[in-house]
Amino acid sequence: MTSSTTSPGTALITGASTGIGAIYADRLARRGHDLILVARNGERLRALADELHAATGRRITTLVADLTDAAARSRVEEVLRTDESLTMLVNNAGIGSVASILADDADTMEHMIALNVTALTRLSYAVAPAFVRRKAGTIVNIASVVGVAVEMLNGVYSASKSYVIGFGHTLQRDLGDKGVRIQTVMPGATATEFWDVAGYAPQKESASTMSAADLVDAALAGLDAGERVTIPGLHEGERWTQWEADRRALAPKFANAVPAARYGLAR
Ligand code: NAP
Repeated sequence: MTSSTTSPGTALITGASTGIGAIYADRLARRGHDLILVARNGERLRALADELHAATGRRITTLVADLTDAAARSRVEEVLRTDESLTMLVNNAGIGSVASILADDADTMEHMIALNVTALTRLSYAVAPAFVRRKAGTIVNIASVVGVAVEMLNGVYSASKSYVIGFGHTLQRDLGDKGVRIQTVMPGATATEFWDVAGYAPQKESASTMSAADLVDAALAGLDAGERVTIPGLHEGERWTQWEADRRALAPKFANAVPAARYGLAR
């Protein structure tokens, strides 16, 4: 797999130095993508880039950036706006917490929002016009099941992932008919360093925790199958289909000038 003429283009993966992002890097390189790997830890990124280049022959570059830093992030945005070889953005970088509002501080939460929400949003805005212009491109956003099961972990983390899910629906609405593929991936607990950062390392050993390899392989199978939302750990997929149908059916019911009778303002 060395000929660039057969390349499906370049994928930019954020948070590629370890965990889910590093597995995406491995799988996408083996599918023939050239890669741009983004994270803060340059040593880890370069080691992975060397290993994947040796294994696949693909062109793998690294971009060391703290995506919560506006200047560093704008360098990544510039690449997304201008690199004509890009065909895929994997918005994967994210951090979590298990702490309640009484056990953590607002600055930590703002930092989480800067990565999980602001960076993901800005990178999507940077690449979307280019993908539309080329009538091709894929944006994969890594959300979480706690974006729906919001009471399970830290509230700001869960809400940041609800944002990713909601944003994904609107990206689909805005870009889906313009040649751009959107996939929102909702992992459940996955065995990565996420849990060390989040403050509950034992979760990595739990019987219900998935390997990052299985998570990414299932997510890519979902992408190949054309899924807009992929939830690898949900065995009863029809329940999500029903939930989505119910959510969409509710939308037209909200638009009434008159408050509902239960509020006692009937005229
Ligand atoms: P991980 O192993 O901790 O990896 C997180 C990645 O993000 C690392 O490559 C890290 O690299 C990078 N990163 C962290 N802060 C960054 C920053 N400020 N700027 C740039 N890169 C940064 O966690 P993971 O489990 O693979 O998480 C990947 C995604 O999956 C996240 O969005 C997470 O919310 C989501 N997710 C994970 C789980 C789970 O159970 N693991 C469940 C649901 C969803 P550097 O430290 O080198 O910057």
